[in-house]
Amino acid sequence: QRVGVVAESLPGETRVAATPSTVRLLLGLGYEVVVESGAGAASGFGDEAYAGAGARLGGAWTADVVLKVNAPTDEEIARLRPGTTLVALVAPAQRPELLEALAARDVTVLALDAVPRISRAQSMDVLSSMANIAGYRAVIEAAHAFGRFFTGQFTAAGKVPPAKVLVAGAGVAGLAAVGAASSLGAIVRATDPRPEVADQVRSLGGEYLAVDVAQEESTDGYARATSADYDRAAAELYHEQARDVDVVITTALIPGRPAPRLLTAADVAAMRPGSVIVDMAAAQGGNVEGTVPGRSVVTGNGVTVIGYTDLASRLPAQASQLFGTNLVNLLRLLTPGKDGRIVVDFDDVVQRTVTVVRAGTVTWPPPPVPVS
Ligand code: NAD
Repeated sequence: QRVGVVAESLPGETRVAATPSTVRLLLGLGYEVVVESGAGAASGFGDEAYAGAGARLGGAWTADVVLKVNAPTDEEIARLRPGTTLVALVAPAQRPELLEALAARDVTVLALDAVPRISRAQSMDVLSSMANIAGYRAVIEAAHAFGRFFTGQFTAAGKVPPAKVLVAGAGVAGLAAVGAASSLGAIVRATDPRPEVADQVRSLGGEYLAVDVAQEESTDGYARATSADYDRAAAELYHEQARDVDVVITTALIPGRPAPRLLTAADVAAMRPGSVIVDMAAAQGGNVEGTVPGRSVVTGNGVTVIGYTDLASRLPAQASQLFGTNLVNLLRLLTPGKDGRIVVDFDDVVQRTVTVVRAGTVTWPPPPVPVS
């Protein structure tokens, strides 16, 4: 079968679903690979690099398996041949109308954002790969907007104190931010309602700040909404920290819900001029009052509030490489014969869960995934 790598049409998207090195891996699974001309340009991968890896350049929408980063537009759906397998991020929980449109086209759709959170599926988990990159980049954006060093120094011209960074939410993105900020030399603190992250925060060079109100334990790795008691105690913590730290990076999300509000406008107003906030939850409604999704704004008291929603795309070569590798890992599972033929086994929990449309029928939501 032929695998097609198409160019992304979403404005500002710089990623691509395969790189020259992942093309080689796809060829190793027995597929022919065709790449749309210019598909990798914004990631720094030219047509000649794909050709050198063994891909053909040409029309990729008519392939048997179409690889893409973002969900297709209506015009793009019309370009898919019936019978095609589309692999992309499609936000199945948020976009039922998209699933219907894809089903009407008589295709099969594997949603990369539906990979279950079980150990076996970790190598295919695009959301974790992108969260890791975005957490790192959030620190780089903060350092860029902050007019001072992150690290402390003793110089002939005087002593420079280290910056203090608070990371709110220590999941994949938050832990990446803790690691990046502490490796730049900042004093890093992190908080999260899941106490089990404390050791991970410490191992990355941060201090774990506990909110001493017990939480209902998660059974599936996803965070639960916090209780009103917890939120009151956490609000005090943020209130105190806002007065003390130079940089706040917020990453708090609860699957299927708007992002929890962590910092109020009063907390932001209490920060020192020159401080920086990166609100990584901007696209989900924001953790910080006053964040503008997609923008960087400066408040009346001189605090920069960054609400960029494309943090992973700001490191396009790395993001495409990890995205493409996750995709190859999924295709490896779906190509048991390594013979360039995709076979979706509905008895396998990973394959069942990612399949949101099967040969023209919507198969979302999947049955619950047993915890492993
Ligand atoms: P996420 O993006 O859903 O949430 C980010 C963080 O926000 C979480 O750590 C959550 O606890 C935190 N949060 C929620 N409400 C908060 C609040 N009010 N205040 C502060 N923080 C709040 O989470 P994620 O980064 O995708 O992952 C969460 C966990 O799941 C991690 O421990 C990760 O290791 C695990 N995980 C496992 C797999 C796998 O096994 N395949 C894949 C992905 C993630």
